[in-house]
Amino acid sequence: MAGPPDRPTLIATLRDYVEQLREEGMEGLPAAIPSAQSAATGASAPAAIETAAAPSAVVAKSSELFSKYPGLEATSTLENLREFIGDCERCKLAPRRTNLVFGVGNPDAQLMFIGEAPGADEDARGEPFVGRAGQLLTDIIERGMGLSRGDVYICNVIKCRPPDNRNPEPDEVESCEPFLFRQIEIVQPRAIVGLGAFAVQAVLKVKTPISKIRGHWQDFRGIRFMPTFHPAYLLRNPGDKRLVWADIQEVMRFLEMPIPRRGGSPS
Ligand code: URA
Repeated sequence: MAGPPDRPTLIATLRDYVEQLREEGMEGLPAAIPSAQSAATGASAPAAIETAAAPSAVVAKSSELFSKYPGLEATSTLENLREFIGDCERCKLAPRRTNLVFGVGNPDAQLMFIGEAPGADEDARGEPFVGRAGQLLTDIIERGMGLSRGDVYICNVIKCRPPDNRNPEPDEVESCEPFLFRQIEIVQPRAIVGLGAFAVQAVLKVKTPISKIRGHWQDFRGIRFMPTFHPAYLLRNPGDKRLVWADIQEVMRFLEMPIPRRGGSPS
């Protein structure tokens, strides 16, 4: 009979579980289980650990964001922007990254996908969404939508991998988001799909759980924005693929794309 799982396996399982709760919309966990005594005496509730991104409630205008990096607003192509970012050392993620993961796809795409941050595979290859979750996103684009990755534009809120796949921290988002916002301004997609709670909350500056907001059109500076579940969440919860497929079909209808009558949905 198999023995108890080892410590790294336990940690990985726990991390996965917390991530799943976060994707499902839970915004915090008690820091400690209330003791029988505190429950009986009505002692104050334990502090909550914030697991969701905690962006400010105010959506900064692009001019305010760009003033963080003078000259950014003068970049007019994705190549210019990539050059502007350079060998970035603007946040604490720089020393441990292998590659900065800028974005890939059609610079004139009608549709943009935005994820959270590169993982190990993306860091190694310098391209977003190339690991297991990336394969599922590719299936959605190719088998579901009948497009190729090169037809759309794919990027992340954060361009460098957070160590140990932890969530990006607020100072890292603050350093990196002007580059995402400039990417959006340059590509000028007609629609954006936000992949997962982190990307949706970071871009829209909301704290609405992903389970509540997904499938409902939002506005990002005049661009239609569709929140949906992250492909990594779908790997753990394949039953929810139908929800993502419904969200993607809504996007396809908006873009006036033909929707495969049957069998097109990514498996
Ligand atoms: N998850 C993301 O959010 N982005 C990637 O590029 C890969 C996995």
